[in-house]
Amino acid sequence: MFITLTMPSYGAINRDGAINDKGETVGDGSPRDPGSYDYERAARDIVHFSALFDRWIQNLRRAVGWNIQYFATVEPQKRGAPHLHILIRGTVSRDIIRQVTAATYHQVWWPLHTRDSEVYPGDVLPVWDPARLTFIDPATGSGLLAFDDVQDLLDDVEDLDPAHVVRFGDQMDRADIRGYVAGRKADRAIGYVTKYLTKSIAEVLDTDSDRTRHHYNRLHAELQHTPCSKRCPVWLRYGIVPEGADEKTTPGRCKGKAHRRDTLGLPGRRVLVSRQWSNKTLPDHKADRAEFVRQLLASVGIVKPDTSHLKLSVVRPGDRSAPPRDHLILSEIARRKIWRAEYNRALLEAGPPAQQDTSAIPVAA
Ligand SMILES: [Zn+2]
Repeated sequence: MFITLTMPSYGAINRDGAINDKGETVGDGSPRDPGSYDYERAARDIVHFSALFDRWIQNLRRAVGWNIQYFATVEPQKRGAPHLHILIRGTVSRDIIRQVTAATYHQVWWPLHTRDSEVYPGDVLPVWDPARLTFIDPATGSGLLAFDDVQDLLDDVEDLDPAHVVRFGDQMDRADIRGYVAGRKADRAIGYVTKYLTKSIAEVLDTDSDRTRHHYNRLHAELQHTPCSKRCPVWLRYGIVPEGADEKTTPGRCKGKAHRRDTLGLPGRRVLVSRQWSNKTLPDHKADRAEFVRQLLASVGIVKPDTSHLKLSVVRPGDRSAPPRDHLILSEIARRKIWRAEYNRALLEAGPPAQQDTSAIPVAA
C-alpha cells in the first residue's frame, strides 16, 4: 500500500512561477503572501517531523493490531516542507489511515521557544564565563539557567502547554493522503518513492525562481532561531544554557542538520525502513552479492581460491613481518583489476538474461 503524508498549510502557495516536464505552468512553492506565511511553525515542524512519523507508525500499528512493516522516503516539497512517501506491506483501510493520521500528534515538552520569547534575538548574545563555567548575560553578568533546571521548574507548573505540537496536514489540505493498492498503480507508487532518491535534497530544492529562493532564505533564517535538540546552542537565544555547553559553544550557532540551508533542515536519513521490512541484514545482502558473483564466475570456469581459512591481523607501521605499504596497495589494485576483468569476461560469456532484448547488446562469440 502506498501513502503520502504531508505537513499542514503554513499559508497559501502561488500556483504559477514554474514549468513542469510537460511544459505546463505549475507552482514554484513560494507563498502568495510571505508576510503572513507561518515560518515559525514551518521551521519547528521540520525539526520535529521525524518524531511525528515515529508516533504515526506506532499509532497505526496499535490501530490495526499487527507489526506493520514499511519503507519510506523523506522528500522536500517545493514549499520547503518535508513530506513522506510510504510503502506498507499489507493493506489497511483508508478510513483507518485517515483516522490515525488525524489523531496523531507529537508534543514537544521543551521550554517555551516562540520567536517573541527570545531573550537575545539579535547580535548581542550570552557570553561564556570561565570562572563560573557557564554562560552569563553580557550586560548584567548574571548566570543563565541550564536546560535541565528550566525543565525541572516546568515540571512543577500545573496545566502546562507543550512548547510545540506537530501534526500532519488535515483533510482540508490537498492530497494529504493517497492510498494506492500495490499492483494496480504500483508503478506510480514505486516511482514516487524512488523518484528523488537519485538526487540530493539540495538538487531537489534547486530553483530558478527568485521568489522561491527568497522563501527558502526566509525559512532558513527561521531555522537559525529554532532549537533542534537539548544540546542545541540556539537555546542561548532564549536565555537557556543547552546541555553539554562549554567554552567552545558558539551561542546561537548550531552545526546540526536541522539548520542547514542546502537541505532546509531535512533529516539526514532519507530512507526510513522498518526492521523486518525485508528480514535481511546488510551482511545478508553482501553475502548474497558475493555468492552471485561466485556463481557467475563458476559458470564460465573461473574458480576462486577458498580464502575462508585466512586469518586477518593488524600490523603497525614499521612492522618487519609486513610488506611495505605501497607494495600492499599496488598488489591490491592489481588484484582488483584481475577480479574486474574476470567478472566482465563472465558477464559476456554468460550472455544477457533471457528476458532481455538482446538486439542492442554486443555478445562475445
Ligand atoms: Zn541545533
